Amino acid sequence: MWVERRMGLETCRRVARGAMVLAGCLVFACSATIRRPADGEPVPEGHFHWPADGRISSLFGPRGNANHDGIDIAAAEGTPVHCAAQGVVLYSGVLRGYGRTVIVGHGYGLSSVYAHNREVFVRTGARVRRGSVIASVGSTGRVTGPNLHFEIRRENVALDPLQYLPSRAPAVIAGKRPLTMGG
Ligand SMILES: [Zn+2]
Repeated sequence: MWVERRMGLETCRRVARGAMVLAGCLVFACSATIRRPADGEPVPEGHFHWPADGRISSLFGPRGNANHDGIDIAAAEGTPVHCAAQGVVLYSGVLRGYGRTVIVGHGYGLSSVYAHNREVFVRTGARVRRGSVIASVGSTGRVTGPNLHFEIRRENVALDPLQYLPSRAPAVIAGKRPLTMGG
């Protein structure tokens, strides 16, 4: 399947960079090629909505000698996680570091990733709409507290979600703070 196909190469690259991911465990997600949004095709305007209410506790971008491939939205355990756009569930299960994770494909080569969930409510292959509750916020995987780790990808390239989500009150953006990989 989609995730597995990408696993070998990505894991190798990750290990070569000296990171903490063990060979064979994970996750396309840790090792995506990072590219500025301007380098990619534009994401259709209004395509994505916010997946959860909460405070942004970590932004997309370099973190230590790795890259934080998404944003973290800190919220209480059990807070609903909404699908950011309509699509089909490509993966629902546990990924090392990411804990209980849902990956949704949206067409246009786009996908979104929802990690560290307490519970997931959708199965691989399910059709989901924007706003559907697909999971609840938790602290599974490698985290320091309950949060939703949210990614937007195009052809497995991690994009900065803030470039594609509707603008939001700056008060919720707490800025970067150090978190362990996958937090
Ligand atoms: Zn994160």
